Amino acid sequence: MTGEKEPFFIFDSNACKRCGGKCCRGHEGYIWVSMEELEEMAAMKEIELPMFANHYLRQVQGKFSLQERVINGEHLCCFFDPIAGQCTMYQSRPEQCRTFPFWNSLMNNPQKLVQSCPGVVLR
Ligand code: SF4
Repeated sequence: MTGEKEPFFIFDSNACKRCGGKCCRGHEGYIWVSMEELEEMAAMKEIELPMFANHYLRQVQGKFSLQERVINGEHLCCFFDPIAGQCTMYQSRPEQCRTFPFWNSLMNNPQKLVQSCPGVVLR
């Protein structure tokens, strides 16, 4: 026996194909990116880092966040394609995106977790 608690929810990754990018759009927020992630994203776009930064980044409190676009009052990550409902940077998306919805802030708030992600099914 390991003594580990069973997770209180199941994550259905198939929901990602149907939800239309609920985690990439909504309220204004921050999509934090590290320098390593920026370099990988710029390489994927095949542009130099300074140009990538000019087009896609904003600096907040000394850190970098991806820019957002506002469409019909909704904030969308600059790499989210609202027509396809998909991330255009999926293979090189930042850790913040890769680890959604397993964020401490959501894991500690089951109600918010369920509201934030259609892939979450409480046990
Ligand atoms: S980088 Fe991709 S996965 Fe992350 S918020 Fe932007 S569109 Fe969504």
